[in-house]
Amino acid sequence: MRIGVLALQGAFIEHERRLAELGAAPFEIRERRDLDAPFDGLVLPGGESTVQGKLLRDLGLFEPLRAQIAAGLPTFGTCAGLILLAKEILNDPLVHFGLLDVVVERNAYGRQLGSFHAEAPFAGGAPIPLSFIRAPAIRAQGPDVETLATVDGIPVAVRQGNLLATAFHPELDPDPTVHRLFLGMVHQVSGR
Ligand code: GLN
Repeated sequence: MRIGVLALQGAFIEHERRLAELGAAPFEIRERRDLDAPFDGLVLPGGESTVQGKLLRDLGLFEPLRAQIAAGLPTFGTCAGLILLAKEILNDPLVHFGLLDVVVERNAYGRQLGSFHAEAPFAGGAPIPLSFIRAPAIRAQGPDVETLATVDGIPVAVRQGNLLATAFHPELDPDPTVHRLFLGMVHQVSGR
């Protein structure tokens, strides 16, 4: 299972480690030619969505990746990755991939709560640890978006078809539940 990890900026190495631990074959996407060989899934890591959005466009990665995600490539966005996928960003006029039917607010947790930890049941299963770093909040979602976890009534993990997104950073905690779910989505599509 070849999984491309967008490696322009932010927390991508932790995703690669987790994916490899779970038996997948991650590779880094840094430039256009990294997309030449076929792959089965895509991870959009946390970091700064504004920086990542600019680099994606400058490097000619934006259009080909958007086309592949829109065509059904299983894609997992964490934090800034969720923002890149969102159809609307309340406090940013520039939409990026715009394929996940949610409205997000960037840096939605106030200054003192910039980073925090919580725990919540995930996808109807046991509670998992959740690490938030200047996370976006999902303020609205369309009918095709399924909520997989909430904190204080706010969705923090969602799925819409081939898209999985979390406001938290599952790659920073030892629990493999979220990546396992993602690789299950990849398996369903690719048969690998
Ligand atoms: N605050 C960042 C943004 O707006 C997201 C933070 C993160 O990815 N940990 O893009």
